[in-house]
Amino acid sequence: MAKTQQVHLMSRALKNRIVSLVREITPAGIEAAQAIAGLAEPPLCEVKSSAVLERLLAGNGFAVSRPWKNLPTAFLATAGRGKPVVALLAEYDALPDCGDQPGQWGHGCGHNLLGSGAVMAGIAAAKLLKEQRKSGTILVIGTPAEETLGGKVYLAAQDAFRGIDAVLAWHPNVETKADIAGGAAMDSLLFQFRGQTAHAAAVPHEGRSALDAAMLMDVAVNYLREHIPDNCRMHCVITRGGKAPNVVPDFAELWYYLRGRDRQQVDDLRRRVCNCAKGAALATETAWKMVVNTCNTERIGNRPLTEMLDSLLHVYGPPAFSTDDARQAGKVAPKLAYSPTLDPIMTTPSRASSDEDNVSWFAPLSKLNVACVPKGTHLHHRQWAQMARTSGAHKGLVRAAEVLAAGAVELCLNAKLLGDAKADYQQNMKGKKYDLPLPKKAPPAGFKTA
Ligand SMILES: [Zn+2]
Repeated sequence: MAKTQQVHLMSRALKNRIVSLVREITPAGIEAAQAIAGLAEPPLCEVKSSAVLERLLAGNGFAVSRPWKNLPTAFLATAGRGKPVVALLAEYDALPDCGDQPGQWGHGCGHNLLGSGAVMAGIAAAKLLKEQRKSGTILVIGTPAEETLGGKVYLAAQDAFRGIDAVLAWHPNVETKADIAGGAAMDSLLFQFRGQTAHAAAVPHEGRSALDAAMLMDVAVNYLREHIPDNCRMHCVITRGGKAPNVVPDFAELWYYLRGRDRQQVDDLRRRVCNCAKGAALATETAWKMVVNTCNTERIGNRPLTEMLDSLLHVYGPPAFSTDDARQAGKVAPKLAYSPTLDPIMTTPSRASSDEDNVSWFAPLSKLNVACVPKGTHLHHRQWAQMARTSGAHKGLVRAAEVLAAGAVELCLNAKLLGDAKADYQQNMKGKKYDLPLPKKAPPAGFKTA
């Protein structure tokens, strides 16, 4: 299949121009990625990390608004003018226990690269459109707290993604491929129990243990596990469970992630898990309450956009890792090797979830994965965070920026492609409505950073 034929942009001259525009911004982009890796700020605390990206954008002709909408560390950066409006999504939140030292935060998901790559792509695309005197607005949207809150979920609730013609996202990965499938729909829910404190030895009969309720609830959920669809996932941590064994705990809290193929499956899981909470509260004579942290949707896949990214990957190729890159990676984890290939479009949804799938309900969206670390690197782990600071990671960063920049420009120059992407979006949205069981305010009370 002559996929590259549909890509209008890729005259050799334009490709070379994208490469050189990305090269111009690469030292600053790598510096930003390294700075954000060092900062490793928790979700909604990414004050310095977002500022690093905002400075880079502002210094390269973007008008930056921050904070944006309802999140303190979100931003909107705009360059160019007129239609179409193409958005690139940036993330920059870190993860707990992924730093070099125990207890430190770190970029165990590589969001230091993710944010910088989107910014580099936006800068290169906007410069090219300006040089060519073409109409088109490039947005770089700073979307905080992907890992725990799902910043994009709350931005979407504020209509942040309406009026955008197309959205391109990327994620550092162990493989290089476009992704049409997205991830699982998910609920992040807190279950809180309130009981009655008492001396646990002298007058236990006067107490009503919130911890008992929490543990009973989880036992019930574990029994429920047998009777849910195979693809679903339910996992939890106990965030509060009392402070001393000799005091009957009057407060306990469980934090669940419920995942399924789509919202319908997750809504049903939520209903059944709530019954577990209800039963546990009844048994222990405690009161229960559910607090919704976030709700992710399944992806509305977009074939024309995904095929465009795949075509561009064929034009630019996977990152070419050197022996020096392998040597640096070997210091983090010996025996792991980079994937040198370009893989087919990912069509099976991931078991994990991402808030960018919510954005796909508002505009045609597709996503690129680019190899930045060797295969087998532990994700959400300090090993990933360390790999995300090596020269190999920066090779992937540059390739992602090139392909995203080319994709953004392509969407501004190729009206047929954009029209096809919009038609596909309309078709896939038939009968669907974005209506999540989500609180209006963000962050919700009880939001956890870890
Ligand atoms: Zn991630």
